[in-house]
Amino acid sequence: MQIEIITIGDEILSGRTVDTNFAFLARALEAESVVVGWHTTVGDTAERIGDALSRALERAEAVVLTGGLGPTPDDLTRKAVATTLGRPLKLEERVLDEIRARIKRLGRKLPASVETQALIPVGAEVWPNALGTAPGLLIVHEGKPVILLPGVPYEMEALATEHVVPYLRKKSGRQVETFTLRTAGTFETLLQEKIGAVPQGWPGAVLAYLPSYFGVDLRVTVSGSDAKQVRSVAGRAYDQLKTLVAPVIYAEGATTMEDVVGEALLELKFRLAVAESCTGGLVAKRITDVPGASRYFERGFVTYSNGAKVELLGVEAGAIEAHGAVSEAVAAQMATGARRKAGVEVGIGVTGIAGPEGGSKEKPVGTVFVAVSSPRGEGGRKYQFVGTRNTIRERAAQAALDLARRHLRGLPLEPKL
Ligand code: ATP
Ligand code: MG
Repeated sequence: MQIEIITIGDEILSGRTVDTNFAFLARALEAESVVVGWHTTVGDTAERIGDALSRALERAEAVVLTGGLGPTPDDLTRKAVATTLGRPLKLEERVLDEIRARIKRLGRKLPASVETQALIPVGAEVWPNALGTAPGLLIVHEGKPVILLPGVPYEMEALATEHVVPYLRKKSGRQVETFTLRTAGTFETLLQEKIGAVPQGWPGAVLAYLPSYFGVDLRVTVSGSDAKQVRSVAGRAYDQLKTLVAPVIYAEGATTMEDVVGEALLELKFRLAVAESCTGGLVAKRITDVPGASRYFERGFVTYSNGAKVELLGVEAGAIEAHGAVSEAVAAQMATGARRKAGVEVGIGVTGIAGPEGGSKEKPVGTVFVAVSSPRGEGGRKYQFVGTRNTIRERAAQAALDLARRHLRGLPLEPKL
């Protein structure tokens, strides 16, 4: 099944808004083997929206539009679609009641324009929007689904997950199984070398390498018409892939590095404190992104200056002088210092050069030292990252969490694929 996605809005064409709605939809649908054959973006012009839809209906088997469903005069999607499909707009009392109730719940005044959002093309199915006022709409036009979604990303994403993806999955008649193995501390090319041609033995499967500064996710999507066959291929792919890259897998699915570090701490009944220099609190932020982190996270020290490292963590001034603030010795003292000062079982220390300035020949930009200290012992590693200030910091935070995970789980600190 090949579909077209049309995203609507002047703000997208001007580049001020990045088209995340498209990316979200395309990714969600790819996992279901619904192929996005075309992607069009048009501005807030009824004529352009109509043209785009007409063209999409000529070539695609289904069309998804996002944006321009709001009550403001620049929101023209509803009208343009109604005109193009020859279906007049009709006021749906039920939708209007829902919108009124929502606005009342929020304690706002009812704007007159809100009624426009209850104007629905005749024959459309309404998908309620729990997070906003404009509902999603499904119109099956001459056998082809035309789906309208609001532009606000979180509203669009909720409707896509709850309605669009299941609907198109069913429509495509394909059976799909998918899984993701998340790796860190290695490179896409090394993974490719290791995995080689193995996926050729998985009929109907596609292996995607998805690199980011958190690592490389390996996503396998198996599709076919026979559910049993699809399941069996997915099972085999999972076992083989997992065995091949075992040393670098840290999680599966949408589980994050901070999730698995939290799990390890909970299991061991250890509490954590972190001492950060170049990451400026990013590790603590990541740890506390997880709900319930208070069960194992005690505190974070952001010790950017040498003085702060000495004063708050008890790092020896002599160690900084002898080895530099960015060194294995100082990272180690930051980890033990955080642990001791906070009175907890586990301390992590991170120090490095995020750049763009401050690098030297021996310690170029991207040099990062991470250390960990716990009842399991002391451990540490040097990393050499490349990238911008931002990506180096993100990579450093991820590496620090991964090092802590490896240390707590008794795994080698430097994985060998
Ligand atoms: P509203 O009811 O808020 O008017 P709407 O359905 O009319 O919603 P828009 O007005 O087009 O949607 O967009 C609302 C917000 O969502 C804007 O901030 C816009 O930048 C953002 N947005 C719209 N389309 C996209 C997109 N394709 N990707 C990312 N953000 C988008
Ligand atoms: Mg708009």
